[in-house]
Amino acid sequence: MTSTGKIPKVDQTTSYDVLVVGAGLAGLRAALAVDPELSCVVLSKVYPVRSHSVAAQGGINAALDPEDRWQDHAYDTIKGSDYLADQDAAEFLCEDAARAVYEMEHWGTLFSRRPDGRIAQRSFGGQGYPRACYAADKTGRALYQTLFERAVAQRITVFEEFFVVSLVVAEGRVAGVLAIEIASGRLMAIPARTVIFATGGAGMMYARTTNPYIATGDGLAIAYRAGVPLKDMEFIQFHPTTLPGMNVLITEGARGEGGYLLNAEHDRFMGRYAPKLMEVAPRDIVSRAIETELLEGRGFADGSVHLDLRHLGEDLIRHRLSEIYDFAITYRGINPVHEPIPVQPGQHYIMGGIATGLEGQTTLPGFYAAGECAAVSVHGANRLGANSLLDTLVFGRQAGLAATRFCREEPQAPPISEASWEEWQDRLATLRARRTPMHYGPIRARLRATMTDNVGTFRDRKRLQAARGELAALREVYAHAGVMDRGEVFNYDLLAFLETGFLLDLAATVVEGALVREESRGAHWRNDFPARHDDQFLKHFLCSWSADGPVVGEAPVAITHYAPKPRTY
Ligand SMILES: Cc1cc2nc3c(=O)[nH]c(=O)nc-3n(C[C@H](O)[C@H](O)[C@H](O)COP(=O)(O)OP(=O)(O)OC[C@H]3O[C@@H](n4cnc5c(N)ncnc54)[C@H](O)[C@@H]3O)c2cc1C
Repeated sequence: MTSTGKIPKVDQTTSYDVLVVGAGLAGLRAALAVDPELSCVVLSKVYPVRSHSVAAQGGINAALDPEDRWQDHAYDTIKGSDYLADQDAAEFLCEDAARAVYEMEHWGTLFSRRPDGRIAQRSFGGQGYPRACYAADKTGRALYQTLFERAVAQRITVFEEFFVVSLVVAEGRVAGVLAIEIASGRLMAIPARTVIFATGGAGMMYARTTNPYIATGDGLAIAYRAGVPLKDMEFIQFHPTTLPGMNVLITEGARGEGGYLLNAEHDRFMGRYAPKLMEVAPRDIVSRAIETELLEGRGFADGSVHLDLRHLGEDLIRHRLSEIYDFAITYRGINPVHEPIPVQPGQHYIMGGIATGLEGQTTLPGFYAAGECAAVSVHGANRLGANSLLDTLVFGRQAGLAATRFCREEPQAPPISEASWEEWQDRLATLRARRTPMHYGPIRARLRATMTDNVGTFRDRKRLQAARGELAALREVYAHAGVMDRGEVFNYDLLAFLETGFLLDLAATVVEGALVREESRGAHWRNDFPARHDDQFLKHFLCSWSADGPVVGEAPVAITHYAPKPRTY
C-alpha cells in the first residue's frame, strides 16, 4: 500500500481501471482480487484501519469439520433469513466459506485454536453447529491486519481521507467518482473504468447503534441517487446485547460460549421464546424477546436485562472474551467475572443495500458493490451472526474478479464531463457561502430519534406514517440548512452535512419498504400484521430514486432447495 501523506495528483487526466471506495474488509479483499496488471486505487474517507471491519468481535462462519456440511450452513442461513435470502447466493456464500477462511489462515490470520491445532469454532445464533471461527473476540482485527499487510505488500494505492460525494455516469456506464480531498477541500474528478463500492453500513440513522460515526450509508445513497436500486431496505438488524448508554457491542460469542440472559425476576426468559436454542436463537428473535420483557415491565430500571457470564469462570472470560471483559470494566465499571452485564438491543447492521448479483454487479455497467453496503442477498430478512465478515471476503473477491473481467472486455471509461464536476463544485460553494441559523446538527438528531422511536424492533402503520411525515419535514428544513465552518481544509462540518443528506434519503427507503411490507418477517415486525405471508410477500422490494421520494418495485426471491417453512427454534 502506498500512502504518500502528500496531496496525490488526482485529476481528470489520471484514469484508473478499478476504483474501490471503502478500505474495510470488503474493499481490501476486492482490491486484492484485481489483476495486478490493472491500475487500481482504494479511496477511504478515514484512515483505513479505522474502518468498522476492525471492530468485528465474535467470528466468521465456515463449515470446516467433517461432521458439518456447507449445505447445513446454507440451510441455517436461509432459515435465519426467514426465507428471504436468495438461495443461490446463500449457497455460494456457504460453499465458498471454507476456502475463504483457509485462505486467510494461509495468509497469516492468527485464529484461536483447538488443543489439536485446528481452528477453534464456537456456537453462534441460529446455527445447528458451532461453526464461527474466531480470534478471541477480536476477529475483525485479526482478519483486517492480514489483508492490510497483504495490501501493503502488493503496493495497492490508497487515497486516505478522500470523501466520495457522487458517482459519475456517462454513455450508460460508470465513468468514475467525484470526491473531496479532505485535507484540502478540493473537489476531484477521478475517472475509472470500473467502480466498486464497499462503503459499509448506515447505523447512524438510529440513535442507539453499535456502529461508528462514519457509518452514514454514503455509498448506498450515492448509488441510489445515480439510479441504482436499493434492495430490502426495511430489514434493519437490532443486536440483542449492547451496553446501555453508548451501545457498545457485547458479542453474540458471549452467549455462544454459554452466557445466560436474565430479566429482573432472575428468569432465563429465552425459554419462553426459543425453547431449543435459548440465548443462541437468531438475533431478530432474541432482540424482540428482550424488548418484550422490557415493555412488560420485567427489565431493570436502566432499560436493560442482564447477560450473566459468571458461571463460565474467570479463565474463559478473560481469554476467550477478553475484549468484553475490558469493555464491561471500562464503560460500566462492572467485572463480568463477578457481576452480570446490563444489555439492551441496538441497531447493528443493514440487511438491505445496493442490489447486486453474485458477482457484485449492479444495474449500472461497470459499477459493483460488496460488503455491508450491498444486498446480494444472502442475509434476507435477518442476518446470522458471523455471516457478515464472510460476506465481505467472499463477495469482495467476487467484485474484484468481476471488475477485472469487465476491464478486459470494455474499452476505456468515457470522460467525466466538466458539467458533472461543476454541478457539485457549485453546490459545495453555495453551501459554504450560505448564511443560515439552521445547522444540520438538530436535523440529524431528530432523524435518529424518529427512526429509533418509530422504525425500530416493533413497527405499525401509524408509527411508520408518523416517521414518513417527520422525514418529509426534516428534508424541507435540510434544504435550507447549512454549516458553521466555511473553510476548505478538513471541513468535517461540511462532510457531516452531506452525510446527513445521505441518511435522510436512506431513512425514506427504510420507511417506504416497511410500510409496503404488511407482514412480519425476520427483523421486520409489524404489530398490525404479526404473521409472515409468503403468498403475498415472498419477494424483495427495490427502492428507486425519484424527485418525489422512493418508488418501490419488486424482484423475485431465488429458491433452490429450501421450501419456506414456519421458523421455530
Ligand atoms: C461492533 C461490531 C462488531 C461486529 N462483529 C461481527 C462479527 O463478529 N462477525 C461478523 O460476521 N460481523 C460482525 N459485524 C459486522 C461486520 O463487521 C460489518 O458488517 C463488516 O465488517 C462491514 O465491512 P465493509 O467492508 O462492508 O465496511 P466497513 O468495514 O464498514 O468499511 C467501510 C469503508 O467505506 C469507507 N467509506 C464510506 N463512505 C465513504 C465515502 N463517502 N467516501 C470514501 N470512503 C467511504 C470508509 O472509510 C471505510 O473504509 C460487526 C459489526 C460491528 C459494528
